[in-house]
Amino acid sequence: MAHKPVIRVVGSLNIDFVTRTPRVPGPGETLSATSMTVHPGGKGSNQAVACGKAAFTSPSSQDVVVEMIGAVGANDPYYASLLKPTLEKSGVSTTGVEEMEGVQTGTATIIVDEGSHGENRILVVPGANARVNDLAKIIETATKDGIPDVVVMQGEIPRSTVLGLLKAFNSPHYKTCVIFNPAPMFPEGVPIDALKGLAVLVVNETECRQLFTCVDELKTVPTSGLDEPMTELELNRLTTYLHNKAGILIVVVTLGSQGVYYSFETPDFLDRSLIPAVKVERVVDTTGAGDTFVGYFATAVARHLAQVKGLENLNVREAVGRANEAAAKCVQRNGAMESIPFGYE
Ligand code: ATP
Repeated sequence: MAHKPVIRVVGSLNIDFVTRTPRVPGPGETLSATSMTVHPGGKGSNQAVACGKAAFTSPSSQDVVVEMIGAVGANDPYYASLLKPTLEKSGVSTTGVEEMEGVQTGTATIIVDEGSHGENRILVVPGANARVNDLAKIIETATKDGIPDVVVMQGEIPRSTVLGLLKAFNSPHYKTCVIFNPAPMFPEGVPIDALKGLAVLVVNETECRQLFTCVDELKTVPTSGLDEPMTELELNRLTTYLHNKAGILIVVVTLGSQGVYYSFETPDFLDRSLIPAVKVERVVDTTGAGDTFVGYFATAVARHLAQVKGLENLNVREAVGRANEAAAKCVQRNGAMESIPFGYE
């Protein structure tokens, strides 16, 4: 009997302060900038919003339950007036967001240098995100109505929390489908053992290259130059390694305007392919494209798991295709959460 699928996203919540300036001031210099705007952000909440929006099959119905688990500072006016309402309007429950005393909500101060093709400089203060470390409490919240169909995680909460949750949710007791997007990659990397039994790993090209440098056995494999696209041979080699050594079922590498590569291996078959990006007339802003992709992919996986036990019969190509289309809509609009499309669009 099918049930309404449940996704829990464990991750960061930020307030983004975006200042646009004709140029970046030098040391000791004060400059008049163009504008300052405040936006809801954080990779965790962006991906929760993407899951929530993807789950809307019409403006009034949502077929997947999505909940955000994380932390913000207590009595934060920006959380109350901006972040929380944005999550809720996107169909994301915020009951798992702890409002912590004595710490600020995470912030990102983003300086957009209009003089250098909109290049960004970003300062992140993790704030409450760095305090998302009570494993027992997170697991209790995540499993309060039973084991969720899908748990989504990224790299903006402490590495020890992520590694602890990977272990817990891949253990027989709490076994569930974890979708892990190590973005940004932890400076210490991710040990291959921590990925053992992982259902889905999603990385972009940068994180994929970082995997080559933090996995000992791959360090000696020659890779193409940093500015060149990864070759299909490199992608095949890395994903084969991740399937064989860690038993990861599905590895997805997002390749920006080049599209998406995926590799899905079960004991019975191997399905891998490079799906080109959807051609768009004009790219306006790619912020949030990766998060849109992860959210739409997670929603497709959760819908599948509500019907069928296990991922063996998942149509990965179709799930990747849907996420690829949603990410292409995102790049044609400005902003991060605002630019994520609803599932019915
Ligand atoms: P971000 O950090 O900006 O959210 P990312 O680096 O995590 O992005 P990318 O690999 O750049 O992720 O992009 C994610 C997906 O978005 C791509 O796999 C593709 O589906 C879509 N996408 C990105 N750029 C374009 C583009 N120019 N045209 C169409 N689709 C795009």
